[in-house]
Parts: sequence; structure tokens; C-alpha cells
Amino acid sequence: MRLLIMGPPGAGKGTQARLIAEHYRIPAISTGDIFRAMKTADTPLARQVRDIMDSGGYVSDDITNQIVAERLAESDCEPGFLLDGYPRTIDQVETLDAALAASNTPLDVVLSLQADEDEVVARLLKRAEVEGRSDDNEDTIRVRQAVYAEQTAPLLDVYRDHGLLVEVDGLGEIDDVSERVFKALDAKLGESS
Ligand code: ADP
Repeated sequence: MRLLIMGPPGAGKGTQARLIAEHYRIPAISTGDIFRAMKTADTPLARQVRDIMDSGGYVSDDITNQIVAERLAESDCEPGFLLDGYPRTIDQVETLDAALAASNTPLDVVLSLQADEDEVVARLLKRAEVEGRSDDNEDTIRVRQAVYAEQTAPLLDVYRDHGLLVEVDGLGEIDDVSERVFKALDAKLGESS
């Protein structure tokens, strides 16, 4: 299965991504995790990524597209993959689509995890206390929500038009959400096979 998980920052994508990956035995690839690992290095690129992330903006499409293409070419992605946090812009959608079409391995489903803004801001502030992520402060969180609404939420319409979108309510206990997600994904996969 090849799928994307989308949703506003704080909707619980990372948590659900890990559970989905385990359940369907596919790798979960998070561009946020890749960039967080990258930004600790002392190189010009790492410094650039660090500054962008700490401001709440998006890393450039060129860098992001290249990093994802390299990751998807690894052999563990042959049975499928789950992308978390990518694509986030129209350019990234088009680049991914073209790459997957070229290898005749199109997406099977795009999962949208839904949560309202007050709930996600509250969750992110709590995560800031627990994990200490440098981009989890209130100002950056507001910027990330706004950038998501402006640049990434419209991508859901694109995938809806392609007949790929499945929407799941992300509120509630983690296990309840994942049960809902597995059911919705299985229904969608059954529909297309
Ligand atoms: P969240 O979903 O909570 O915002 P992520 O871990 O997915 O967190 O991403 C953290 C940051 O990493 C983003 O705010 C952005 O700066 C950068 N990033 C992650 N994925 C992408 C992407 N596909 N394109 C551009 N920047 C990205």
C-alpha cells in the first residue's frame, strides 16, 4: 500500500503514521523527522534548514523533493510506504505524482486526519513541555497553522478530485483513532481492488 497522511500540525499524524506502518508493514517516512535529524549537523544546508524550521516556514521544494525521491528509491519502500508531512505544496504534489507515475506505482489512498485548531494548538503546547521541540512555541505554532491552511489544506481538494481522499476524525484516544483509520483504509483498499 502506498499512502499519504495529511492533517494540520498537531492532528496526531506522527503517532498514527507509526501505528499504520506497523499494521500494514510498510515504512513510515516523515520529512519533519528527516529535517530534524539533518538540522543538527554543522553545515550550511543544516543551518538553512534549522532557521526555516524554527521560524515555522517550509523548507524549499527543491531540497524537499530531492530528499524524498532518494528515500523512496530505497528497497524497503518496494512493498509500499506511508509519507507523513509530504507533499505539503502543489509543487511537491506534482513532483511526487510524476515520479510515481514514471515507476507505475501510483498512490492508493490519501488519509486526512481531522482536528480543530484549538485542540491541535493545545496538543502542541503540551508536546512542547514533554519533548521540548524548538518549533513548538505558541508563535511558531500559529505560523505553522496559518502556513498549513494556506499552502497545504488546498492539496486535500486535489486528492479528493483524484478519488483518493479518505477523511478520519483525529479526536479521541489514540487507539480509537487508529481503529477508525484501519477501518477507513481497509474499506478504501477493498473498493479499489
Ligand atoms: P508538524 O506537522 O507538527 O508541523 P513536521 O514534523 O511534519 O511537523 O514538520 C516540522 C517542520 O519541518 C515544518 O514546519 C517545516 O519547516 C519542515 N518540513 C517538514 N516537511 C516538509 C515539507 N514537505 N516541505 C517543506 N518543509 C517541510
